[in-house]
Order: sequence, then structure tokens, then C-alpha cells
Amino acid sequence: MRHDDQDADGGHTSSRRAFIRTSSAGVTAAALAATGAAPTSPAAAPETAVTAARLAGRPVAVTPACDGHETPAAMEGPLFKPQSPERGDLITPAVSGVRLDLTGVVYDTACTPLPGALIEFWQCDQNGDYDMSGFSLRGHQYTNSRGAFRLRTIIPRDYWGRWGRRAPHIHTQVQAPRGPVLVTQLYFPDDTRAYGRDFAALNASDGILNRACTIALAGPTGGAYTGAFDFVIKTTVQ
Ligand code: FE
Repeated sequence: MRHDDQDADGGHTSSRRAFIRTSSAGVTAAALAATGAAPTSPAAAPETAVTAARLAGRPVAVTPACDGHETPAAMEGPLFKPQSPERGDLITPAVSGVRLDLTGVVYDTACTPLPGALIEFWQCDQNGDYDMSGFSLRGHQYTNSRGAFRLRTIIPRDYWGRWGRRAPHIHTQVQAPRGPVLVTQLYFPDDTRAYGRDFAALNASDGILNRACTIALAGPTGGAYTGAFDFVIKTTVQ
């Protein structure tokens, strides 16, 4: 198990992923260079409307409308491992924690759903540990004919790493066939309840966090949260 502050890099050579041919480290570096390598500033809080809807007992929009704006990139971190298993269900016998069922659609910048897009997810567990010896809480999948994906996982815990205390987040890479790789991280609303942690404080103190990448969360119902997040990605290398 390893946190982001430990130094080994999972390695970015990818024999499996002819699909992801572009070095994800390179993409991340380019993305950071484009932003002056500064931590992304928190944007408007998209979870506010969701939280208000939930508190008022109104249904939460499962799929927020695509506005054509590309999903913001974020650093990959050192703990990506290539050749993850193809699976949308990361709940293996060794995994415990607060359940999360995440669904969404991958769109292009014209808001057309993208079938066959590759999505890679990796995250830490309920203790804040990443599995570096195996592939627990790691997996990749392809969007279906409607551009949709479904991930069965847990809400990760915060941890102390190279960039200070990290708010709970899920790492992801998304790529249309033959397109560039979007590397980013997904976050949780301030009122998320898991592991006795103060998500509002954790989110507020995380210098990498981008609230534009906050999952729309409903629940918990029966101990499980339901989340929604749509990606908007470029489909051609520019
Ligand atoms: Fe991380």
C-alpha cells in the first residue's frame, strides 16, 4: 500500500494500452504547463444545486447537461499503474468502505456521446492506501453504445501525500478512440459523509482540487451513494 508521498512511480510504459499511446505523464505535464503549473483554482461549486435539491427532496439530475466545455485536467500523480483489469466493478472481497455507484456519459466537445471511449479509474481505499502490489480499486472500461459508463466502487478516504493532505478523490484517464488522453481527478461534495471525515474542510484545504470536477452525489441509500459525472473530452490530437 502506498500514498502519493512515496516515491516509486507506477511506470508509464504501456504495453496493454495501445489505446493510450500518448504518455499520460506527458499529457499531464503539458496540461500543467498550459496552466502555468499552478494548482487549479477552485471554480464555482457545482454541488450546491445538487445539495439543495437533495435537501429539498427534489430529484437530483442524474446526467448534467453537457455544455461543451472540456473537463478540466489535473495531475496524474505517481500511483497510476498500467495494465489494470477491464472491469466496472471494483468491489472485490478485500474492499470495504462506503459504497459508491458512479455513472455518467463521455461526450465530445459538440456534446455527442462517445461510444467505445476508454476510461481508467484508480483510487485509494477506505484507509487512504493505494494498492501498488496488485490492482485493488483499479480498473478500466469502455463506454457503451450510448457513451455511458458505470463504476461500482467505494468513496476513497483522504490521505497525506506529496502535495499535502488530499481531499478524497478518484483518479481517472479518459480517451476517445485515437484521441488524446484526458487525465483528471474527481471529487466529492462538501456534505459527503464517510469515515467520519469533514469533507468540507478537506475540500477547502486541498490545493489541487477543482470543484468543476465534483461528482453529483445522491444518498446514501442503504449505505450506498449514487454519483453522476459526465466527461467532455477532445477527440483529436491538436
Ligand atoms: Fe491520489
